[in-house]
Amino acid sequence: MPELPEVETTRRGIATVMPGKVLRALLVHEPRMRWPIPEHLAQTVTNQVVQRCERRGKYLLIGFNAGTMIVHLGMSGSLRRAPINEIRRKHDHVEWIFDDARFLLHDPRRFGAVLWHDHRNGPVQTHPLLASLGVEPFDPGFTPLTLRQAFKDKKQAIKTALLAGDIVVGVGNIYASEALFRARINPKTAAGRLSLTRCTRLHAAILSTLSDALHSGGSTLRDYVNATGTPGSYFDIHAAVYNRAGQPCRVCQTPIKKIVQGQRATYYCPKCQAR
Ligand SMILES: [Zn+2]
Repeated sequence: MPELPEVETTRRGIATVMPGKVLRALLVHEPRMRWPIPEHLAQTVTNQVVQRCERRGKYLLIGFNAGTMIVHLGMSGSLRRAPINEIRRKHDHVEWIFDDARFLLHDPRRFGAVLWHDHRNGPVQTHPLLASLGVEPFDPGFTPLTLRQAFKDKKQAIKTALLAGDIVVGVGNIYASEALFRARINPKTAAGRLSLTRCTRLHAAILSTLSDALHSGGSTLRDYVNATGTPGSYFDIHAAVYNRAGQPCRVCQTPIKKIVQGQRATYYCPKCQAR
């Protein structure tokens, strides 16, 4: 699943091209995504200038004067730049056509979304999908102390609490396992039992895991392609625990263990992450 580093990499890719350009056409070839693409959308944005390309959590926000297009890549989506005359591939469901550029939303599983928030309804941050999101990990408001406060009374396992997204956004399944390994915290530990010292370690580990992936342009996904069309591969090569069940821990050689928490796979080293 595209996670925050992939989405941010995509944002950086489109942000170098789209702002200031007139969107000549939005072609919707398949409106049946996670939610139906609004019927009026193509007409609303045609010949409108893209003002900005932002991100909130895993949502790409393509801003126009009248409103903001909210794009989510779902489980398997990618947004790539394609030559104007390239033949559309299977699962290329939406096209953004500019005078000298073209972007395609490719999403085999169609869990992605393309929605519209009219600015007459207030700032896009008030949209129901965005309003309850946790703090951005690179926001100065995200600190070891806020992490400790948010976990305080939670009996939930730390891995599950991190994934929920209401405390900090963007720590998806790969990054949660990797960050807990770097912080030497057992993923089954109750969130409320983490001391401030361990929250400080976890905070640093979350930031370093995400920024390592960001610097390499996103992580793993078989079907993930960044905005310029290059597949990302960081955690294919560098994962310490993710997808490494049975293989030796890179620190202590103990076989990496896989468990399932909240229906998601978790990977950890039983020795390095004993508690
Ligand atoms: Zn180990």
